Amino acid sequence: MTETVKSITSPSKFYSGRNLLPKLNDYMKTYGDHAYIICDEFILERAQKEAGSAIEGAGNKAVFEKFNYECTKEEIERHRERVRGTGCNIVVGIGGGKTLDTAKATAYYEKLPVVIFPTIASTDAPCTALAVIYKKDGSFDEYLFLPKNPDIVLADVDILAAAPARFFAAGIGDALATYFEARACYQSHGDNLVLKKPSDTALGLARLCYETLLENAVNAKIAVNQKVVTKAVENTIEATIYLSGVGAESGGLAAAHAIHNGMTAVHSLHKVQHGEKVTFGLLTQLVLENAPIEELETVIQLIKDVQLPLTLEDLGVKKFEEAEWRQVAELSCADSDTMGNMPFPVTPEDVYQAIVAANAIAESYKDK
Ligand SMILES: [Zn+2]
Repeated sequence: MTETVKSITSPSKFYSGRNLLPKLNDYMKTYGDHAYIICDEFILERAQKEAGSAIEGAGNKAVFEKFNYECTKEEIERHRERVRGTGCNIVVGIGGGKTLDTAKATAYYEKLPVVIFPTIASTDAPCTALAVIYKKDGSFDEYLFLPKNPDIVLADVDILAAAPARFFAAGIGDALATYFEARACYQSHGDNLVLKKPSDTALGLARLCYETLLENAVNAKIAVNQKVVTKAVENTIEATIYLSGVGAESGGLAAAHAIHNGMTAVHSLHKVQHGEKVTFGLLTQLVLENAPIEELETVIQLIKDVQLPLTLEDLGVKKFEEAEWRQVAELSCADSDTMGNMPFPVTPEDVYQAIVAANAIAESYKDK
């Protein structure tokens, strides 16, 4: 008999709101009084001024350390030594996905609580119990599966909205796929990211993620282009940081992310954001499913309205090389990937043909 345990896993606490950086101490103080803060260079000075002075003003201590651009085993080891040397009892990560993953891994190995403070809303890194480890040359090394999600995630909407608008849109692209992948995984009784079955709660959160984006994402993107924060921006951030992360971890992934992973082999896409590739993976998944035309058109309209790349040409593919895209299709169907969570068998040939069709459909909607 196969075991069917369902799950919902998430950070213990998620807060989103305005101007949270100076209030970091208020949120972390019940977990630790001596913070080791791994911080991206661009925000280091500001974090020291706003968060550091508040921590010290409250009688606690903070050690700031610049993140060295890549989440490698060496970088994690460097931070672990500093944590032990300074006697810190809580780890904080302030920055992009790699910084946050480094903080999660450092805290895990040192058995300390971790506070996650994202500065861009482009991926699911903040809320998940996963760290992606890279090699020194920037290539993928391994996934580090963590026994628990972060203790606290703080989404400062002012900082997230001030990041380049392209990152904000990429986060919308990543979040847009969440519901469709969770739905496929639910239908196929596939495994979610913690290797349990998707719960109804997870599917519900994934659906809320999609509905929140449909209601808010377009106006949120317009506001972010103007560097301002509105209710639509706040709601979209809740979807891209929390609902998308928890919805994907507990609801499971399917074709869209498998195709994304295959697309990492395409050289001309190396500068493309994760969420931008996932968006094209989603279009391909909808073609594989032969999704209702209204659904496809709703998704395409949203992609266009938030100014995400729609076609392969938009993504920077100058010439479509059949061999390259057959390789993408092949990779996306690897046993280790999530194509097996589709509710019907999918072959590399099916994926290749769906990629060609998805791109042609995208082209046909480009000027509509
Ligand atoms: Zn993703």
